[in-house]
Amino acid sequence: MTASRTMSFGSPGRYIQGPGEINRLAKHTAKYGTKVFAIIDPFFFNDFTPLLAKQYEENNGSFISVPFDHEVTEDRIAAIAQKASKEGAEMIMGIGGGKTLDSAKGVANTLKLPVIIVPTSASTDAPTSALSVIYKENHEHSHAINYVKSPDIVIVDSEIIANAPVRFLVSGMGDAMATLFEAKANAASNSPNYICQEAGSFRRTKVAMTIAQLCYDTILEYGVAAKLANEQHVVTEALESVIEANTLMSGLGFENTACACAHAVGDGITATPNGTKTLHGEKVAFGTLCELVAENAPTDVIEEYVTFCMKVGLPTTLQDLQVELTDENLQLIADNASMPELIREPYEITNQMLQDIVKAADAVGRYYKNS
Ligand SMILES: [Zn+2]
Repeated sequence: MTASRTMSFGSPGRYIQGPGEINRLAKHTAKYGTKVFAIIDPFFFNDFTPLLAKQYEENNGSFISVPFDHEVTEDRIAAIAQKASKEGAEMIMGIGGGKTLDSAKGVANTLKLPVIIVPTSASTDAPTSALSVIYKENHEHSHAINYVKSPDIVIVDSEIIANAPVRFLVSGMGDAMATLFEAKANAASNSPNYICQEAGSFRRTKVAMTIAQLCYDTILEYGVAAKLANEQHVVTEALESVIEANTLMSGLGFENTACACAHAVGDGITATPNGTKTLHGEKVAFGTLCELVAENAPTDVIEEYVTFCMKVGLPTTLQDLQVELTDENLQLIADNASMPELIREPYEITNQMLQDIVKAADAVGRYYKNS
């Protein structure tokens, strides 16, 4: 599928990032009303609920919350929406990781209410996007729902991110670094982006390509320093830069250009034994190496990428992902690689070609580890 001549660009209404912003939520959300209904990650539920209830009370508002429970399913979204409606909610807030945020987006979309997104880690580019990934009760992936509207506000408290596990930040870098190479693949094949899909197939803007490039450059420049700051649980400018790259730049970059081989391989790896033991961005990091091999990227580009991955601890081999290099696993990866993403590469990649690409990329990763 090729894009039309028309371009499209989408983004959240507002983006706020800085230390302690959780203490100013009521100020940020005042324009949407006073009655908040929040879904909160269970890890934060008991701490945040009384604090935020007090904050909204002091600002003449009300704050009602439920913990995220079990899984993002259509039934659970419908049940929470019913409860929020009964409480007279004027806006829906999600505080937590990807699944909590996706639930909040689903509830807000059901009730046609504003949605406030408060991520508690910088591990993926989900916070700014206009979609939810829906699962079945048994945690199997079901489908994605694309919404017409992006989140109204994304509010990132960098102190919360500084206290989150370092592995989340590093995984977010893996997810974010894929954005540039996938954007270039989409440009080379003139594939449509993800914005306004309900109305047609549109081209990426120059702004989107520039964001993807800035995302990569920022992580390359500040990734190591940001990881070190995260280990010490302190907010530095380097950490702020990488939080912005992982969350805002990666989010705007991928939606406004689209995914390609790196995510296709990342999705395929989930089907292998142990494939779900690693984080999304960790699998995508190895997927990016596969994409570079598929596209015959210059050696210096591959070297720069692999060297950075090794410095911050991102996977560059199947072994790093706890996946054995066997013919069966190569077959599973190729059989389950996401086709809507793989067909965005500049040339057709068959099942056997993809198996060969993954095998070759794994060899490249091992070569740099051993040299
Ligand atoms: Zn991703």
